[in-house]
Amino acid sequence: MARIAIAGAGVMGRLLAWQLAGAGHRVSVVDPAAGRDEAGAAGFTAAGMLSPVAEREHAAPEVAELGWRSLQLWPRIATALGRPELVRTEGGLLLAHGCDHGAAQRVLARLQGEPEPLNGAALQMLEPALAPDLKAWWLPGEGQLLPRELLLALAEQAPEVDWLWGCRAVGVAPHRLELDDGRRLDADLVIDTRGLGAKADMPGLRGVRGETLWLHAPGVVLNRPVRLMHPRHRVYLVPRPGDVIVVGASEIESEDRSPVSLRSAVELMAAAHSVLPALAEARIVHMETNLRPALPDHLPRLAHQPGLLRLNGLFRHGWLLAPALAERALAHV
Ligand SMILES: Cc1cc2nc3c(=O)[nH]c(=O)nc-3n(C[C@H](O)[C@H](O)[C@H](O)COP(=O)(O)OP(=O)(O)OC[C@H]3O[C@@H](n4cnc5c(N)ncnc54)[C@H](O)[C@@H]3O)c2cc1C
Repeated sequence: MARIAIAGAGVMGRLLAWQLAGAGHRVSVVDPAAGRDEAGAAGFTAAGMLSPVAEREHAAPEVAELGWRSLQLWPRIATALGRPELVRTEGGLLLAHGCDHGAAQRVLARLQGEPEPLNGAALQMLEPALAPDLKAWWLPGEGQLLPRELLLALAEQAPEVDWLWGCRAVGVAPHRLELDDGRRLDADLVIDTRGLGAKADMPGLRGVRGETLWLHAPGVVLNRPVRLMHPRHRVYLVPRPGDVIVVGASEIESEDRSPVSLRSAVELMAAAHSVLPALAEARIVHMETNLRPALPDHLPRLAHQPGLLRLNGLFRHGWLLAPALAERALAHV
């Protein structure tokens, strides 16, 4: 069995650690977060949409291929973690206001395959709370997951992993991790899943700011994730347990992690309210900013050399891609 040292406990690092430990390897994970529930990784902020078709607006076909594979794998992973309820694959909706039909048609033309248009009656049956004038397209098989709960479950269900919280990897090399407290971890394989923390070792890696809002809206029923196609904004609404609806997300070329801006908040909330008018009395209970780790081609990168595996560039679809990328990565172990 191999000794494996992983730098970075985001979704990619935790998923690999859990799978490798489950396969009997001796795994250590290093992360500067104070503990498994400290929200630093981008994955904590994510809405958790699993949208291989809708993401085709921004992404290459490879992302959709990996995404469909992950959609097969996530339910199995959640079941193996004893938490099947954390992943749902009951489809999603693309929406447009009637006046934005032209912009919507341009987006639809970029998607793989034609999403199926829904008539008003079918839409009302699926999502009665949506504004009645909306045009809608059905995305069968798409899904959502609960990111925080999955991040916690992956760490909790791998007690045999040596989780080194509060430690930063300052040197990442084949067979060797150097930590900021002076320790050195020797390993058969080092895995670098530091996200943006790998910037110094990965030319072109950049952070893309994303902002989300959490609304508490008792009595407002939204059954599945929906996305609004709009000439200026891309806004999605994702239902969460406890009457919460997550509204996201801005996409700004900046590595500024400061709190959500007034402009983003106004635009996201105005768009959300236009889709779901019953949100008028919702309460804004949380706002969050984080950075998506992105490479210039906006594709994920898996780079392997003897003793070192790097996985990065998961950009705006890390949850969508992680299980399929892990599957590819494990072929190198
Ligand atoms: C607002 C927002 C919404 C999103 N919504 C979605 C969505 O709906 N669906 C989807 O699929 N994706 C979504 N994403 C994208 C997804 O969250 C990311 O692609 C994914 O979390 C990247 O995972 P990662 O493990 O590669 O990196 P990260 O999550 O960034 O994790 C990297 C980890 O490495 C650690 N680290 C950093 N430096 C060091 C170091 N020197 N030593 C050791 N550890 C280090 C960090 O503390 C962190 O824990 C969203 C992202 C954002 C910001």
